[in-house]
Amino acid sequence: MRSPTAAVLGEIGLPIPIRDLAARTWDAIIVGAGHNGLACAAYLARAGKRVLVIESRQRVGGACTIEEPFPGVRMSPCAYLAGLLHPLVVEELDLTRRGFQWTPAVNGMFVPFLDGSSIQLWDDDERCSEAVRKLAPADVDGWNAMCAVIRRLRDALRPAGKNDFKRDFWIGDSPTREEIDSRLGNDAEAKSVLFDWSMAEMVEHYLRDERLQIAMLGQGVIGTNASPFDPGTASIRFHHSSGRLGGMPGMWGYVKGGMGMVSFYFCDAAREAGATVVSGIPVAQIIPGEGVLLESGERISAPVVISNAENGPCGGEEGDGPAQVELIIIRPDGTEDDATVLTDDETGNWSVGYINTDLVGVYTVEGDCSDQDVPEVRVNATGFSYTDATFTITADEPTSTTAAPTTTAAPAPAVAATAAFTG
Ligand SMILES: Cc1cc2nc3c(=O)[nH]c(=O)nc-3n(C[C@H](O)[C@H](O)[C@H](O)COP(=O)(O)OP(=O)(O)OC[C@H]3O[C@@H](n4cnc5c(N)ncnc54)[C@H](O)[C@@H]3O)c2cc1C
Repeated sequence: MRSPTAAVLGEIGLPIPIRDLAARTWDAIIVGAGHNGLACAAYLARAGKRVLVIESRQRVGGACTIEEPFPGVRMSPCAYLAGLLHPLVVEELDLTRRGFQWTPAVNGMFVPFLDGSSIQLWDDDERCSEAVRKLAPADVDGWNAMCAVIRRLRDALRPAGKNDFKRDFWIGDSPTREEIDSRLGNDAEAKSVLFDWSMAEMVEHYLRDERLQIAMLGQGVIGTNASPFDPGTASIRFHHSSGRLGGMPGMWGYVKGGMGMVSFYFCDAAREAGATVVSGIPVAQIIPGEGVLLESGERISAPVVISNAENGPCGGEEGDGPAQVELIIIRPDGTEDDATVLTDDETGNWSVGYINTDLVGVYTVEGDCSDQDVPEVRVNATGFSYTDATFTITADEPTSTTAAPTTTAAPAPAVAATAAFTG
């Protein structure tokens, strides 16, 4: 079966004018067409929901996509190996019929050392054990023990096949700590890997040869900002061995056509089930309970908005990325005005994402803003300043964000405003 999404290399564009999208009734809007947003869209659409996916880039797939940097040369720009894709998702979203094929990367990892020696760490415990025997014979037992603890963890938390008595923890609700503890029983080693050890502690527990230890350290910091000496990094090593793609425990592999084909197949599945996917349309803001505001100024309504976006105006957790202040301004007549997003770019400059020029006045801010350091904000055409519990919007002459502070506001009756702080 030919993938319609792959046929345009993920560049879906805007199949329907924005005003028509805005006029429709949606059950859910998904911000971002990364593979997670697309899989989510496919499942919701299959459940009969009216789903709109809005992607800011021209191409869908996010970090799991395919690019063509030179004519005729296609490549996976970020994610390049599949391993944690759940077989149930392959089955339910009909990936094989759509064309999904993969080749196990059995060669694993080749690691050269400064002393001229090297090791091929095959994705096959027996072959790997043999390679370890040649490099560091004294470490064979430790190596085997390290592989064994990973196997025990995988079997405990992600038992193979459909199991009515011991569910795969990746399916259904997240397990509680108690549930995990009970699965692991008194396997202290497995608990240390999962909850406590740094990757450095893990390799030192099992291996003596420093070359082997170093070869493995990187496996504990994949996709994280941690160092291998940070507690918990051993669990990352386990996580990357916890897949069961194709029924092969811990195996990773190359997807035919490039890793982004997975996202493209998800996009096909979503659209086939009735979801609408648009690309090249950035979302400026999520308005809880109402929908989204596009960067181009239009609003699209939906009672539920699901963010697949990375940190930025639409997502993020405390400590991640720029701080944000959202202001929802309530006019004297009780109606709400468009929300305003202030973003701290972490250099002390604050900028206003969206503001209405008819909002000249002094406003009070409800909520605790004392821990927010917003000395003053200036924007073109509209001044904005902030002190403790009030903020001021002035219709100053256009100024730049680096100009002198805004001083006073045109007097106006105080009206209520609510402030929500995120990030
Ligand atoms: C260099 C690199 C290599 C990797 N290698 C692998 C690998 O080999 N195997 C593997 O399994 N994983 C790998 N990963 C991790 C994997 O790619 C990511 O975990 C995964 O792609 C994340 O998917 P996602 O859908 O959650 O988010 P993303 O792929 O980040 O998708 C988010 C989408 O939201 C869009 N978006 C953001 N803001 C807005 C907005 N305001 N409005 C509209 N849309 C917006 C973005 O453009 C993007 O398309 C790698 C990651 C990187 C960076």
